Amino acid sequence: MTTFMDAENDSIRPTHVEVDLSALRENLAAIRVRAGAAKVMAVVKANAYGHGLVEVARHMEKCGADCLGVALLEEGLALRKAGVTLPVLVFGGIPAAQMPSMLRHGLEMTAPSVEKLRQMDEAAAAAGIRARVHLKVDTGMGRIGVQYFNARTLIEAGLACRHVEVAGIYSHFANADAADLSHARLQLERFHEALAVYEKLGVPTPARHIANSAAILQLPESHLDMVRPGILLYGVQPGPECPLTLPVRPALTWRSRVVYFKVLPSGHPVSYGSTWQSDHPVRVVTVPCGYGDGFPRALSNKAHVLIRGARFPVVGKVCMDQFMVNLGQGTAYNGDEVVLVGAQGGEVIRVEEVAERADTIAYEILTGISSRVPRAHVGD
Ligand SMILES: *Cc1c(COP(=O)(O)O)cnc(C)c1O
Repeated sequence: MTTFMDAENDSIRPTHVEVDLSALRENLAAIRVRAGAAKVMAVVKANAYGHGLVEVARHMEKCGADCLGVALLEEGLALRKAGVTLPVLVFGGIPAAQMPSMLRHGLEMTAPSVEKLRQMDEAAAAAGIRARVHLKVDTGMGRIGVQYFNARTLIEAGLACRHVEVAGIYSHFANADAADLSHARLQLERFHEALAVYEKLGVPTPARHIANSAAILQLPESHLDMVRPGILLYGVQPGPECPLTLPVRPALTWRSRVVYFKVLPSGHPVSYGSTWQSDHPVRVVTVPCGYGDGFPRALSNKAHVLIRGARFPVVGKVCMDQFMVNLGQGTAYNGDEVVLVGAQGGEVIRVEEVAERADTIAYEILTGISSRVPRAHVGD
């Protein structure tokens, strides 16, 4: 028993991420209320935005998500290997070589062109399976998908493919997180224009979906048959101009512990490049986390962390494995908890704040937390 516990503890770095599964369940429920009759696809790409792909996907399955969204074949395979049976849509453009594997594992594919769709039809014929496919329409994102004014060609090809079942048709917003929603509205209009083809042809329309997190919050008319929340599921704001008007809360806390304490005399520089020094004696602690863990070097002399319920600044360059914090005249002991993202005492550092200080977006901070940071899943 003791041996087992010790072995467990040995494997837990002082630097780790804790994911609150109850927060994820509540966030999904809040999104479901807002989405009304629309189905909910929980987006778990990029290691579930850093929260742990398999654990989050299993939990979403348990909590009644209708389906899952990933970016890559490999992510879909990891889900199937873990026994996840929900429908999984792969968003990315799919090389023909990956199609047999997609089909074998029952992953739904994105068809962004007639050519890709035909390859899927052939792969499905060869495998003796009916492929489930979602057609992708570009309404203004300029990434993948048939142009909305050419949607008819893709829709007709979908009807003609004998080994393909078109399960959905979708598009993606470029600016749904903006304060000015005119471009998002234009995209929605173009999507409806594309969808009108089904009516003209007199055939049933498959599941229509376009709403990401920002659109779930800001554009209820875009919810259609299904919504695709990513960042919102994790309780994080899609962008600074997109207020969180739903009762969601962050699921992720990023913690470490003080490993070294020292008093620095006035004028003593800290870290590479000696970019910081104090003009009076200060107490400085070292935290065993760095850009190799995904704590961006851009946070050098910019980030704040929480120790003993108070905010302190990161000083000097963030190193690969460590960074330093100026306590001023404050105190801390080796082993004291350091919160990089999350709450401690009455103080909170949200990932949105960290992103702003690093001049990036919350998505990049979350997905950047590297694989050497252990994840623990708690709650529920
Ligand atoms: C990543 C992604 C989403 C989720 O986006 P959020 O802004 O995190 O909600 C939805 N749809 C597609 C196609 C995506 O690639």
